[in-house]
Amino acid sequence: MTSRRPLRFPQMAIRCPWCRAAPGELCTNARGRRPRRADTHAARRIAWVVETTTCPVAACESAPGSPCRSSTTKLALATGVHPERDTAAERAVSGHREPP
Ligand SMILES: [Zn+2]
Ligand SMILES: [Zn+2]
Repeated sequence: MTSRRPLRFPQMAIRCPWCRAAPGELCTNARGRRPRRADTHAARRIAWVVETTTCPVAACESAPGSPCRSSTTKLALATGVHPERDTAAERAVSGHREPP
């Protein structure tokens, strides 16, 4: 079975842990179940980055499947992942560098 449309966001490859949108489907708004077209839930983006990418931050180096840790406390980051890890995940799927 082939997908009729390309993935709008790479994190759509996984199920959203927040709204339970299936892989390949847009996130839906909890009220009214309308698809979100501008973005996905942040939790889905973070989950996708964690699952697919090793963190490039030297003080962290979390393996795929492991959440980022704060370099000072070694606890999981409350905000999700290091920005560098998000960038590395994006580069892996886009296959090219975005201009600064
Ligand atoms: Zn969602
Ligand atoms: Zn990290």
